[in-house]
Amino acid sequence: MADGADGEWFWRQRLADGLYLIRERFYESGNRANMWLVQGSERDLVVDAGLGLSSLPDYLERAGLTGSRPLLALATHIHFDHAGGLHHFPAGGVAVHRAEAAALSRGDNLETVTWLSGSEVSRPPPGWTASSYRVRAVQPGRLLEDGDVIELGDRQLTVLHTPGHSRGSICLHEPERGLLFSGDTVYQGALIDWLPHSNINHYKESCRRLLKLLDRGQVSTVLPGHFNPFGPDTLHTLASDYIAQAGLWHKVATSAISCVASIALRANNLGR
Ligand SMILES: [Zn+2]
Ligand SMILES: [Zn+2]
Repeated sequence: MADGADGEWFWRQRLADGLYLIRERFYESGNRANMWLVQGSERDLVVDAGLGLSSLPDYLERAGLTGSRPLLALATHIHFDHAGGLHHFPAGGVAVHRAEAAALSRGDNLETVTWLSGSEVSRPPPGWTASSYRVRAVQPGRLLEDGDVIELGDRQLTVLHTPGHSRGSICLHEPERGLLFSGDTVYQGALIDWLPHSNINHYKESCRRLLKLLDRGQVSTVLPGHFNPFGPDTLHTLASDYIAQAGLWHKVATSAISCVASIALRANNLGR
């Protein structure tokens, strides 16, 4: 079941009982992130919040998907494509990893790697311009640590701190259903380890950790931060390929890219 009513900023697809994929229809960019709604018996969870050009909690309530239970919005990390929409949620109901909480609280648009052009937004809200876009400061009500359990009543998700792409990147694991919400740690595309606060050694260690989960047979479906869901074999390939290619030469090449990226991001975010 897919829904994309005319003019509605969001699109959604029901993937299973209590599990929806949501995307921003008019953000036509390779950076368009996946957002997920997980419904529990006591509480609902949104994983990642998009750019924030339209209110995700209002949309979910209008669609009848939330509203009867408390709602927690959790970002897998604070990059703009995942955390820009957090300001639409009540601050007490926002959760990020502790390592990125300060940057989110001060609206640090360098650490959120804000990078958006007007041509990527095909139907912007009235009066909106890309140059004035910024991730707004949000004071998270809950700071996440590795091993924390997100309790939804009949469903429990465990926080895995998987730094590398960013310092506060997390995956969320629901062992009972074999679901892994992987954020930007793994997806079916070029993995990004050259941003400010990326770290190749940490990234390799995080991939090893995901391989261990696979070895224990605890992952059946990966719900990534970008592109389509995939299965355990693809996760194995993505994680082991990253580890195999992240040697010395990769580190040298990446540090050059990282310098250029950092300069470009600083220039782009001057004054944001
Ligand atoms: Zn990211
Ligand atoms: Zn992303």
